[in-house]
Amino acid sequence: MKLFNERSAIVEYGKKLLVSQLTTGSGGNLSIINREENLVAIKPSGVDYTLMKPEDVVVVTPEGKIVEGDLTPSSELRFHLALLQARPEMNAVIHTHQVYATTIACMNWELPAVHYLVGFSGNKVPLAKYATFGTQELSENIVSAIGQYNACLMANHGIVTVGREIGAAFAVAEELELVARLYYQTKCIGEPAILSDEEMVIIGEKFKTYGQRK
Ligand code: 13P
Ligand code: ZN
Repeated sequence: MKLFNERSAIVEYGKKLLVSQLTTGSGGNLSIINREENLVAIKPSGVDYTLMKPEDVVVVTPEGKIVEGDLTPSSELRFHLALLQARPEMNAVIHTHQVYATTIACMNWELPAVHYLVGFSGNKVPLAKYATFGTQELSENIVSAIGQYNACLMANHGIVTVGREIGAAFAVAEELELVARLYYQTKCIGEPAILSDEEMVIIGEKFKTYGQRK
């Protein structure tokens, strides 16, 4: 089977999205590129994460031609491939409808630096303009909004994150859900204090050495 490791990771992280309440049912999607083999593994469309098996995950070329897999690839194949092309340092893309980030996206707001963990994206999470799911227009809106950030909100839809590997893209989604919840909650009781761009530059530097050094 082609890309067995990547397909298995998509099954594993799909389940993690459910357990972490970052998605429901078959909503959202994940992809991983193997740049040596020049192939992409992507979630099949409309399949329950609890039932998904590695062989259900579809393998496509970076241009979207199906190479292996009997199921139809995610309806969001376009923006996954566009992001993997636009961001060659990134190897995984995750899209979810996680509730708090999507709440902010439904206001058509960006997510500002209400908490330093927004640094998982950058100095904010930008907002991509609304377009119908699965369309070329949505794909273009996302690529132009995300720029060099690690995430962008999708107006009236959800959020998309990128990472060097799938665990990193997942962490971005998970941490930004906390930040979006804090933003929502602070907006409920007043006007939150927003960290400056200068402070977020410092956070960006600190993140480079955060955690265990190998
Ligand atoms: P797929 O099941 O086709 O991946 O679509 C889910 C989704 O979130 C569309 O935006
Ligand atoms: Zn969606």
